[in-house]
Amino acid sequence: MDQDVTKACTPVDLAAEAERRGISYFLISYTDLSGAQRAKLVPASAIRGMQERGAGFAGFAAAFQLSPADPDLVAVPDPATLVQLPWKPEVGWLASDLKMHGGLIAQGPRNTLRRMIARAAKMGLTVKTGVECEFFLLTPDGQAIGDPHDNAPKSCYDASALMRRYDVITEICDAMLHLGWEPYQNDHEDANGQFEMNWMFDEALVTADRHVFFKFMARAIAEKHGLRATFMPKPFMDLTGSGCHAHISLWKGDTNICQADTDPLGLSAEGYHFVGGLIENARALCAFLNPVVNSYKRINAPRTVSGATWSPNAVTYAGDNRTHMIRVPGKGRFEMRLPDGAANPYLLQASLLAAGLNGLERRLDPGKPLDINMYTEGHTVRDARTLPLNLLDAVRALDASTAMRGLLGDGLVDPYIHLKMAEWNAYCGHLSEWERQATLDC
Ligand SMILES: [Mg+2]
Repeated sequence: MDQDVTKACTPVDLAAEAERRGISYFLISYTDLSGAQRAKLVPASAIRGMQERGAGFAGFAAAFQLSPADPDLVAVPDPATLVQLPWKPEVGWLASDLKMHGGLIAQGPRNTLRRMIARAAKMGLTVKTGVECEFFLLTPDGQAIGDPHDNAPKSCYDASALMRRYDVITEICDAMLHLGWEPYQNDHEDANGQFEMNWMFDEALVTADRHVFFKFMARAIAEKHGLRATFMPKPFMDLTGSGCHAHISLWKGDTNICQADTDPLGLSAEGYHFVGGLIENARALCAFLNPVVNSYKRINAPRTVSGATWSPNAVTYAGDNRTHMIRVPGKGRFEMRLPDGAANPYLLQASLLAAGLNGLERRLDPGKPLDINMYTEGHTVRDARTLPLNLLDAVRALDASTAMRGLLGDGLVDPYIHLKMAEWNAYCGHLSEWERQATLDC
């Protein structure tokens, strides 16, 4: 593998990069509204034209709420995102911006995140984020945990279970080291068969591009090892689900403006306003952070076999306390614990940024932090806002949110709601075994 594939080395001429690095094919990829990654495999000999004009797709065939009569959806690769696939270095992966009629489309997830980053930039802010990707390693049919010996009730940080997956985890981690992402730890998580791998935070667009690539890479490398990596929020009802906690901080130059050393939680007024925006808009945010029917089996969930769900059950925040929706683990940053593994990496960041900027612009007050165990004492909090109980609740909250619509734009929100309502209706059209058992003798 070429040692130059790092953020510091941003290629401009992809054809020249192909020559220099031995790239035979480019995977010109984009992420659609559902979070799926779509791509065309383009021989290096054709990349010059594709870099200028983009690769054409039938937008209707992906999840964008476009019609078969619409013209080509054009994916224009961003050369700054070039990554040689660590497991197949002759292929160069690229994230793209989506255009139609010569302009960026409003419902493009990456386009949307760019818009939110530009809005923050107008306020003089750079947004830095990190994500904690949790995932399960399952048998190829997805029915069972890949390691039959991984069955302890308290399996978090289990050294033996982690080492039985050494070959997969280190292949992914070695790839991140090589790509210059600065990975720093890997562990067995709370559920049997569940793992988490962490790399350094960065600017929001960089983190989102890496998040997309990480999911793609984890699936590909797991497959190589005869396993199936899944980011499904709750693949097993009795085990802890897969979250995707997001850490956020706002910067002006080298100064973290969320930080105030004299504050008990280490947050500045701006930090509290941003948290206020996340709290005010939490229900609408769930449509993006918990975007599938299965997401709602992770939040508001009953206790798992390990003793805790590790996911939020109300719209609250606290200091270094993992039972709340927002944790302030250290000075000047906060961890949003709501997102799950199904969240679209771009819309995750874009929606958090929109809600937070809404808080900053309106100087919203998040109220007092609650330093209690929400899993055992949550019932004593009378005025805490509740989380949506299902996808329909969340989609309706987004539909009704003028703040989120105003920031993200109807051009993104309307097609997204259309997509999610179709998903909800498809789910409702399914007759479950539980319904039959509970209702047959009614
Ligand atoms: Mg975790």
